[in-house]
Amino acid sequence: MMRIPAKGLGKEALLEKLHSYAVADVPSLDGRMWAYVYHPGQEAYEVGQQAYMQFLAPNVLDFTVYPSTVQFERDLVAMAAAHVGGDEQVVGNFTSGGTESCMLAVKTARDYFRVRRPEIHTPEIILPESAHPAFHKAAHYFGLKVISTPLDPRSLRADPDTVRAAITPCTILIVGSAPSYPYGVVDPIPALGQIALDHGLWLHCDACVGGFMLPYLRRLGIAVPDFDFGVPGVTSLSMDLHKYGYTPKGASIVLYRHRELRKHQIFAFSRWPGYTVVNNTMQGSKTAGPVAAAWAVVQFIGDDGYLELARRSYEATQRLIAGIEGIDGLRLIARPDMFLFAFTSDTASIFHIIDEMRERHWVIQPQLAFGTVKENIHLTVSASNVPWVDAFLADLRQCTERAATMESGRYAAMVHEFLASLSPSAWVEDAFGQMLETLGLKGGALPRRTAPINEMLNALPAGLRDLALTSYLNDVFS
Ligand SMILES: *Cc1c(COP(=O)(O)O)cnc(C)c1O
Repeated sequence: MMRIPAKGLGKEALLEKLHSYAVADVPSLDGRMWAYVYHPGQEAYEVGQQAYMQFLAPNVLDFTVYPSTVQFERDLVAMAAAHVGGDEQVVGNFTSGGTESCMLAVKTARDYFRVRRPEIHTPEIILPESAHPAFHKAAHYFGLKVISTPLDPRSLRADPDTVRAAITPCTILIVGSAPSYPYGVVDPIPALGQIALDHGLWLHCDACVGGFMLPYLRRLGIAVPDFDFGVPGVTSLSMDLHKYGYTPKGASIVLYRHRELRKHQIFAFSRWPGYTVVNNTMQGSKTAGPVAAAWAVVQFIGDDGYLELARRSYEATQRLIAGIEGIDGLRLIARPDMFLFAFTSDTASIFHIIDEMRERHWVIQPQLAFGTVKENIHLTVSASNVPWVDAFLADLRQCTERAATMESGRYAAMVHEFLASLSPSAWVEDAFGQMLETLGLKGGALPRRTAPINEMLNALPAGLRDLALTSYLNDVFS
């Protein structure tokens, strides 16, 4: 087991060790990954890197000694707000990422309604099924009850009628996505805004992934559903810099329609013997690297640069969709409003397709079966993927053909057997242990081929998937 080395290692030796750890990682910047990484090109990347390192040491905890960090944040919030139709009243903050932005919006809404509607003991949040897990995490952390509403089965967008029907006297908050991550479609934000206004509720528009690019698509003449502060009823909005703002990770913005709302986000505490605490966000001490880098990269790329990034990503997405629809056995799940979309296969296991593609150094994400939508493959198209479209499609065609010849269903059958044979009380820990052993994942090993584990997860009821994942992660970090 690792211990702190008795004597510090030399810089050379350490750099070598770092390198030896990194070799197992998938390259982040070469554009063969259709998720996770948004690479703006070498020059913009270096600008971010330099700004990040220059502001690595400052601690945003005490902004009074670092006025630069306040200015970075004010500038970024102003640029973001203006980009999504915010007027002079709109305020906001820089956060560590989409999850923190979404969680803060939920906490702020909760605390706002604690004052306005003190009779509500357990506030309820209405989440269309495609809402990001960050909202479930927020509800879990902050004690809200989730009311999950089915999507419109045809468009896979939030369904305003089911949302309206889900309102109770304890409802405080509705979430809509622009677009939703799984299917890349924008929810009907104007209809949700009207519902929020009719019932005195808070509507959060989660534009984490769409906030930067949708306005550019509109400027390119592409039809984009309304989603921003121009829509009556939108109370708060999240937009990630570290996605389609192409800034280094640890960067997102949460916006509120006016200051009265944001007041409930702030945490101040002076009832202890130490320093005075007043925090906008969840973290305490934090580096100024991400905010400085985001500030630099946004201005380096500029409006014309983002417009061009939007144009290229859109064009690549259309070519990908046409290519995928031209491959036998593949079909699109929904026509996307931006550059994220999902497709599936009726002739091959998508889990095998993913593994086969991985052998060819492509990283693509699986999405498990949910409701009436079967398991599928998710692509997030960003600038660095654009040159790879044809090569990707050629490999996808071959991998789909190959996957169609491969056995599948064995692990799903095993799960069904487990489910049938074990009593509910005895089941959980034991069965997961056995399953992980079967998969060669006992003790937190990381899988090489992922099809077996995905097939198993896919076959489990959604609630049990979470238990299995928790049990596995608890092993990985032991
Ligand atoms: C990515 C994403 C989030 C969460 O953002 P992180 O930066 O990964 O924490 C929330 N909502 C949507 C729609 C997203 O795409």
